Amino acid sequence: MASEFEIIRKYFTRAAPSAVLGVGDDCALLKSDPGMLLAVSTDMLTAGTHFFPDAEPGKLGHKALAVSLSDLAAMGAGPRWATLALSLPEADEKWIAAFAEGFFRLAGRWRTELIGGDTTRGPLTISVTVMGEVPAEVALRRDAALGGDDIWLSGATGEAALALAHLKGRVKLEGAALEACLSRLHAPEPRVDLGKRLRGLARSAIDVSDGLLADLGHILEASRVGAELVWDKLPRAKAIAGCPDKGLADDCLLAGGDDYELVFTAAASRRKEIEAVGKDLEIPLALIGATVPGNPVVSLRDARGKLVSSPHKGFDHFA
Ligand code: ADP
Ligand code: MG
Repeated sequence: MASEFEIIRKYFTRAAPSAVLGVGDDCALLKSDPGMLLAVSTDMLTAGTHFFPDAEPGKLGHKALAVSLSDLAAMGAGPRWATLALSLPEADEKWIAAFAEGFFRLAGRWRTELIGGDTTRGPLTISVTVMGEVPAEVALRRDAALGGDDIWLSGATGEAALALAHLKGRVKLEGAALEACLSRLHAPEPRVDLGKRLRGLARSAIDVSDGLLADLGHILEASRVGAELVWDKLPRAKAIAGCPDKGLADDCLLAGGDDYELVFTAAASRRKEIEAVGKDLEIPLALIGATVPGNPVVSLRDARGKLVSSPHKGFDHFA
């Protein structure tokens, strides 16, 4: 059976030309570009909680990195480096090779260099730390929304959660809808390009990992503003719009999680520019509401302005 060091050498040691020193020493040595801030984020995925223990390793490698790149996107940071901490129950080389392939394929697409990590035996757990760069003045923080900002959402929410509901037997999806939802759940695409293009354009941003309302709520709390969302303006993917269980579809849309879309706020005067970015990147951007002065709560209104009640809460890891 391969030793820890063989595994690291064989599967996780790749050239990292933009690092001063990559995998292999006690530390990696990095130099960020002058004038840039380093943006750093860690995410941990645990078998049984964040993924099924028998999940396809290639998709897991992709997702473990994707969720972290999504955090960089939400700050407007461009990815540069990553570290990977792996706890593995056994040295299953087929599994490790497929995992590494999924990880490095996405890493290559976003020019992210793996520069270190840790490999131990234990319950299957994957932790990725990403490092990116963003010019100081334009980092997209949660605490910078102002009352009266437009609220925008990239793509659409709910499909990943709907896929999970399907896998748990709560709903039966078929055909293209099932495909679309599963792909959103297992192979999310971080909105890295969008995040970078929103520098200096958006005022605040967050990525949707725990549900649209919950994550928008974090912007509201940090910025001390409220929000009014227009129910009909919330983008609905085909699978959500066509879901036979409307209550479940609404839940997924508002509170599902695992979407990795960006919610951001911007001055209304920037609408044209934001629309142009969406067109340019071919990413649908929906204007879903506005921030309002007051308490950090979200009201959902129908087209006529009537309050649509919203009992939904975001996903709480300890609930
Ligand atoms: P140390 O004992 O000095 O912490 P390790 O034996 O844990 O070093 O790791 C040896 C080298 O391999 C280090 O450079 C570390 O960053 C790297 N490394 C360990 N595991 C991984 C991994 N899963 N992916 C990438 N690099 C790794
Ligand atoms: Mg170590």
